[in-house]
Amino acid sequence: MVATHNELFLFLGGGSNMLFTKDYEGLVLKNNIKGIQIVEETDEHVFLKAYSGENWHELVLYCVERNWGGIENLSLIPGTVGAAPMQNIGAYGVELEKVFVSLEALNLETLELEIFDEVQCEFGYRESVFKRKLKGQYFIYSVTFRLDKQPEIHAEYGDIKTILAEEGIEWTKAGIKDISQAVIQIRQSKLPDPKQIGNSGSFFKNPVIEQSHFIGLKTQYPEIKGFEQYNGIKVPAAWLIEQCGWKGKKVGHTGSHATQALVLVNYGGATGNEVWQLAQDIIQSVSDKFGIKLEPEVNII
Ligand SMILES: Cc1cc2nc3c(=O)[nH]c(=O)nc-3n(C[C@H](O)[C@H](O)[C@H](O)COP(=O)(O)OP(=O)(O)OC[C@H]3O[C@@H](n4cnc5c(N)ncnc54)[C@H](O)[C@@H]3O)c2cc1C
Repeated sequence: MVATHNELFLFLGGGSNMLFTKDYEGLVLKNNIKGIQIVEETDEHVFLKAYSGENWHELVLYCVERNWGGIENLSLIPGTVGAAPMQNIGAYGVELEKVFVSLEALNLETLELEIFDEVQCEFGYRESVFKRKLKGQYFIYSVTFRLDKQPEIHAEYGDIKTILAEEGIEWTKAGIKDISQAVIQIRQSKLPDPKQIGNSGSFFKNPVIEQSHFIGLKTQYPEIKGFEQYNGIKVPAAWLIEQCGWKGKKVGHTGSHATQALVLVNYGGATGNEVWQLAQDIIQSVSDKFGIKLEPEVNII
């Protein structure tokens, strides 16, 4: 049988959103393509092209230093620039698509570079066309962003305002550097550092369920939270997992993290299969209790 492109190559950025349950049979290519350049500048905006092997957080710091706003809420997300559009990375009320202009991607069949704009990328919540129908068919080579020279800050989400207040900063007067530092502080206090305890961040996506399903659950579990989306109600996966008794539970060398139920961790020596088995057990118990099927955010090999 002739191998398809997604069986021939696997592109690896920082490897921070992957779980290997077996050896990969094809060629693994570690992306190290670097470079950042201004492609256009107006009074309001800077259009910045970054090559896909650049470290994401370093790009954020590069922009913050120059007071170019738009990605400061995405500080400290591990990984590379090229992987960022793959799942439309998001955190603290901002998603990549907000600043995205276009990307260049190598078509692995024709070996031609093609340009994708925002519409062609079909961004969704932790989704893009490259994770779905074009999976394995393109290598993302560069990404162009539109950054604001008179940045508006986004402090509404999570504990950003609280952290700013603790630092003696009135949130309406905060700059993007303050926001970036607040986000870094929150992330460092809440998320396990993958350099110390192996993890891929949130293992599951927050499920979006039908309104009628949510209303039914709300009568049974009045404390359940739901956030209206264009296609239904988004429910926090961490809460569902916690209700099923998984939060902080250790299973062999793996487990759900004590402060972040959504993060599955490798306490040392866990195989990919062990982590995947735990993930499946969690999916099953959430399905049994709430009738909701959790989907992994992590890429499983
Ligand atoms: C502690 C922690 C916290 C996290 N927090 C967040 C968060 O807040 N928000 C969020 O959205 N994500 C978060 N993540 C997930 C992760 O950081 C992102 O998904 C990130 O974009 C992955 O980058 P990477 O370079 O490590 O990708 P990898 O894990 O190397 O690859 C991910 C996928 O993209 C493909 N890929 C990578 N580069 C390319 C390329 N150039 N062209 C084509 N395909 C490519 C890979 O084949 C794979 O399928 C977190 C992860 C960790 C460990």
